[in-house]
Amino acid sequence: MAISPRAAAPLGPSELRARITGDVVLAGDPEWDAARLAWNLAVDQRPAMVALPETSDDVAAVVAYAAQAGLRVAVQGTGHGAVARGGELSDSILLKMERMRGVQIDAAGRTARVEAGVIWSEVAEAAAEHGLATLAGSSPDVGVVGYTLGGGLSWLGRRHGLAASSVVSVEIVTADGELRRIDADTDADLFWAVRGGGGSFGAVTAIEFALFPLAEVYAGVMLWPIERASEILHAWREWAADMPDDMTTVGRLLQLPPIPDVPEPLRGRSFVAVEAFYLGDEAEGTALVAPIRALGAEIDTVATIPVAALQHVHMDPEHPVPGLGDGMLLDDLSATSIDALVAAAGPGSGSPFLSVEVRQLGGAIARPAAGGGAVSHLDADFALYAVGIAMSPEQAAAISAHVSLLHEALAPWASETTYLNFAETDIAGDRLFGPYAHHRLRAVKAAYDPADLFRSNHPVVPA
Ligand SMILES: Cc1cc2nc3c(=O)[nH]c(=O)nc-3n(C[C@H](O)[C@H](O)[C@H](O)COP(=O)(O)OP(=O)(O)OC[C@H]3O[C@@H](n4cnc5c(N)ncnc54)[C@H](O)[C@@H]3O)c2cc1C
Repeated sequence: MAISPRAAAPLGPSELRARITGDVVLAGDPEWDAARLAWNLAVDQRPAMVALPETSDDVAAVVAYAAQAGLRVAVQGTGHGAVARGGELSDSILLKMERMRGVQIDAAGRTARVEAGVIWSEVAEAAAEHGLATLAGSSPDVGVVGYTLGGGLSWLGRRHGLAASSVVSVEIVTADGELRRIDADTDADLFWAVRGGGGSFGAVTAIEFALFPLAEVYAGVMLWPIERASEILHAWREWAADMPDDMTTVGRLLQLPPIPDVPEPLRGRSFVAVEAFYLGDEAEGTALVAPIRALGAEIDTVATIPVAALQHVHMDPEHPVPGLGDGMLLDDLSATSIDALVAAAGPGSGSPFLSVEVRQLGGAIARPAAGGGAVSHLDADFALYAVGIAMSPEQAAAISAHVSLLHEALAPWASETTYLNFAETDIAGDRLFGPYAHHRLRAVKAAYDPADLFRSNHPVVPA
């Protein structure tokens, strides 16, 4: 359903700039270098221009302008996922949504409507004021829209599924310049595609999704010196297998740099870690983590915390960094796969990674959601993600080489599919979505964006 008229195409960047409430920044403008930055500083984005819309009408005007100017549109929420698209964007307008920050909570209806520039901390904190929780991921400053379009793997996922499956409606400007409000009954095929199919189908201006009643969780991290990696990860693997859907756990190797951002007891040290996120009460949580706690962690922060504090437990960087890495899904985690992981990334491996994490999937994440979108579940038991900080080309090369080594080491347990949000390289659509969903996504793309105007970081090309 069209809810705004198609914007008339302006003739040049200065007409576009005059026509919108937001800004257009061109090479040579004083703001150029700041405007073209992504959150992930490892990518050097060089677009034809940067547009900073403030309203959905602005977005429609930019899309119409791009179409008539023969440019493509690269939409960006924060740039957390920018590496996969790369910086060579000379044929594209970089459409940065960061000024569109509206958050509305409907406490009675248990939904949130957020605009395209909203980051997870903003909505998680607003929802928590009403005793409600979001399906946010590990990082407070990841963009809500980009995360949700790619699936959305949350600490609440084993209970409530992927974030994409909690979406109620989406407001989106399609390649014809129309602003549409789509849901299960209106443009149902497009609504299916954007829930897991990524950013290929239009510029999302706002998204509405379900919230869940939850005020507190029993969560935190336990850390041991990395020399105990093999012992701890083997124990963690056996323990994780018996956990209920209300518990999500992560096994992790951390090599923390000696920088002020890292808290004093951790600074410059390396650890093996177990993270626990339990949605029930403290007594049950304490009983569940007891076998891991008995291993005598050097640091143990697992405690009852407000649900909005969940986003800090994983210690993701809360400001831009040059991160390089990649993810993979693992069909199962046998004892030999733990040995392979420790050999490739544990003590003495020469690993350049800041973090190698193995997140538990299963529960509702593994079950196709009723009425769900293109990706409504992940058919694997664990998700691995490895990342390093690349301050120089030499570090970047070392990290890339070690990503390959790690993937080769774990290849015997790798799933045929992979997870869009954790994929940092160019991955074939059949592996991201499965052949059937990929085929259907390409048909939807052909119907709504036949000229391939929208340039996602993981593109679906028109059929
Ligand atoms: C530190 C860190 C922690 C993370 N933790 C998690 C996690 O716990 N769970 C998880 O699932 N993922 C996680 N991710 C991955 C993250 O969800 C993806 O990188 C996601 O794409 C980021 O969205 P963004 O808008 O912030 O990034 P961007 O790079 O701005 O966007 C990524 C892509 O999303 C699309 N997109 C974004 N906004 C729009 C829009 N308004 N309209 C249309 N398309 C749009 C575009 O195709 C764009 O290329 C993490 C990433 C990082 C770096």
